[in-house]
Amino acid sequence: MAKVDESVANLDVCGRFCGSCPTYAANNLKNGKPSLLFCGRGGSLKAPEGKKEGCNCPKCGVHTRYKLTGDYYCMK
Ligand code: SF4
Ligand code: SF4
Repeated sequence: MAKVDESVANLDVCGRFCGSCPTYAANNLKNGKPSLLFCGRGGSLKAPEGKKEGCNCPKCGVHTRYKLTGDYYCMK
């Protein structure tokens, strides 16, 4: 699996897909670390008490471009 670059373009895409995700809202991941690009940076520090409410990753362009196969990267 290719390493996901922490580029401005990838952050922008992630902001649209993670940013509109019910899990992101339910767990206030915007105020956690990292706050985006979990597929490249690793899961949120909020993951241990996190609730899974749906995941937009499989619809995201970064997911397609890097041939990712997983989901819920924020909760790993
Ligand atoms: S990694 Fe998946 S579940 Fe987590 S905020 Fe992003 S789209 Fe939602
Ligand atoms: S695959 Fe998920 S975590 Fe990675 S950029 Fe897309 S929405 Fe964000």
